[in-house]
Amino acid sequence: MSMINKFSAVFAGLLFSFGVSAQSDSVMLKKISDDILTRGAAYENLRFICKKIGPRLSGSANGAKAVNETARMMREMGADTVYLQEVMVPKWERGGKEKAEMIMTNGKKMGLNVVALGNSEGTPSSGIRAEVIEVKNFDELERMKDQVKGKIVFYNYPMNPTFVRTFMAYGDAGRYRGQGPSRAAKYGAIGVIVRSLASNPDDFPHTGAMNYNDSFPKIPAVAISTNDADKLSNALTQKQASQVYFKTNCGMKGEVLSHNVVGEIRGSEMPNEVLTVGGHLDSWDLAEGANDDGSGCVQSMEVIRVFKALGIRPKRTVRAVMFQNEENGLRGGTKYAELAKTDGKKYVFALESDAGGFTPRGIGVTGTAEQKAKAMGWASLFEPYDVKITEGGGGADIGPLRTMGTVLSSLNPDSQRYFDIHHAATDVFEAVSRRELHLGAVVMSQMIWLVSEYGL
Ligand SMILES: [Zn+2]
Repeated sequence: MSMINKFSAVFAGLLFSFGVSAQSDSVMLKKISDDILTRGAAYENLRFICKKIGPRLSGSANGAKAVNETARMMREMGADTVYLQEVMVPKWERGGKEKAEMIMTNGKKMGLNVVALGNSEGTPSSGIRAEVIEVKNFDELERMKDQVKGKIVFYNYPMNPTFVRTFMAYGDAGRYRGQGPSRAAKYGAIGVIVRSLASNPDDFPHTGAMNYNDSFPKIPAVAISTNDADKLSNALTQKQASQVYFKTNCGMKGEVLSHNVVGEIRGSEMPNEVLTVGGHLDSWDLAEGANDDGSGCVQSMEVIRVFKALGIRPKRTVRAVMFQNEENGLRGGTKYAELAKTDGKKYVFALESDAGGFTPRGIGVTGTAEQKAKAMGWASLFEPYDVKITEGGGGADIGPLRTMGTVLSSLNPDSQRYFDIHHAATDVFEAVSRRELHLGAVVMSQMIWLVSEYGL
């Protein structure tokens, strides 16, 4: 055979094998999709987690129950091994319902919907009552710092509606919840009220973690519903009220032993290359944590179920991980990475679902230019599922793996309704669509299958 003929033959062979491979890949992706959309178990597993267990704050009795039940689910799905990773978690307790009122200048009292912020200390048992000073942002706090002493600081910073990607608005406004209490305490405030990080006007306060700066007094902090934030602001502006009373019963109760839950299918060719797919098992105590993040957990377990149901033997090891304590400490994700650094395995890829069980829109990827290009080369395979591969992905729990060179990825669902219910009593099972939840599980399973076949 002449060189030219030989070259043509090789070239034709390459084309042929590429064609066959792309075709068989799309067939496999369709098989995965068909199975989950007809026989998926994620929704019923979510119902169990929400209705039979309920709120799962780490360190709570429900948190421990969720560990046992998700381990059972993955065993029943046929995972090769299911095991727990021990992790110490902070135990924070709300200690009963909060009470809050604004004191009107006419002597009347008007109730306000508030909840304590996670990790915050409670008020004295008699509560606190003080003048309220409203600030729109930290700049305003700095300008008014001499007037803060002895008062309650009210951060009235809304989620910015001009950010179409709602997670950007969340990150932007989240500073006030996270740092607001200590920044006010620095100037002598005795309490803090933060406008809920919520995209809708409603009566549900949204909790979430705050962090004290140890240099300042640990003053009590609450979130107020968006409707009541507007009410309070109006009353203050119109001088119909100047004081607020609130009482919270919360506090840190030390640390307790908890667990990450891992379900694994061993890789048939490269068992030491690990693909992680996960969500966080803990939730806030106010609701069932259906979207945040029961959805991510059941979607991750669904990867195990569908592989086993279809007899897929991944070349690389696939692990579904239920991370512990994402909400108020990130101990689970931190521990997972710590163990990963010493077990001699290669953590190739990690995919997290922690943005709600909504219609999948994209898969974000963080890695080197070549790794991203390789992932983006699969874009056409995802076209039938209306999903794009985009640059930039990851999640709080898998974030600590990045220092090992792990490619980080996230399921990016439609984000418009997430912050209606995020961290509020409204994040319940009924807020999740079976169809949308399962479509997310489809895309995650497909992505994990591609990486298990081809690496990244
Ligand atoms: Zn979450």
